[in-house]
Amino acid sequence: MMNKEVLGNVMLDEETIAKRVKELGEQISADYDRDYNGEPVIMICILKGASIFAGDLLKKLTLDARIDFMAVSSYGASTKSSGVVKINKDLDTSIEGKNVLIVEDIIDSGLTLHYLIKSLWGRNPKSIKVCTLLDKPARRKVDMKADYVGFEIENRFIVGYGLDYDEKYRNLPYITCLE
Ligand code: 5GP
Repeated sequence: MMNKEVLGNVMLDEETIAKRVKELGEQISADYDRDYNGEPVIMICILKGASIFAGDLLKKLTLDARIDFMAVSSYGASTKSSGVVKINKDLDTSIEGKNVLIVEDIIDSGLTLHYLIKSLWGRNPKSIKVCTLLDKPARRKVDMKADYVGFEIENRFIVGYGLDYDEKYRNLPYITCLE
C-alpha cells in the first residue's frame, strides 16, 4: 500500500460545498413538504463517508427530519460484480411506512446503492429517495440515478469532506483527489 500519496488541487472548496448543501436542503424540504406534507423523513446516513455531508444536510432541512445510520461493505472480491453488500451496522429504527432518504457520499459503479435499495424495500417503507454528494456517472455498472446530486465529477479518486483513502483525509473541509 502506498503511503506517500499526493493530493491534487482543491476541486470543491468549503464555500462551494456549503452553498450546494444549502440548495439541496431547500430543494429536499420543498419536495417533501409538497409530496408528504408534514410526515417525518428518516435520513439514512451511509457510514462512514457520508457522515459529514449528512450532518450538514440535516441542519438545512426544514422538515420533521430524523437520522439513522448504516454501515455496509462489499462482500469480498468474488461477489463484487454481483454487488452483494454486507450490512456491518444496521438501522436502530424500523422504516416500515416511513419516508426514507438515503444519504451517500459518492455513487461510482452504483452496485452498493442498487443492492441496498432493493434490500430496504423489503422492509416496506412508504418511499425511498437517494441524495448523493458526488456522482461519477461514467463509472456506472447498473442503472442507478440519485434523486438529488450535489456535484457530478469526472473519474478521479476523491478524498476529503468525509471521504477517505485508507481512513485518512476525512477531516479535510474541502474535496480533492489523489494525483
Ligand atoms: P459503488 O458501489 O457505487 O461502486 O461504490 C460506492 C462506494 O465506494 C462509496 O460509498 C465509497 O465508499 C466508495 N468510493 C467510490 N468512489 C470513491 C472515491 O472516489 N473516493 C472514495 N474515498 N471512495 C469512493
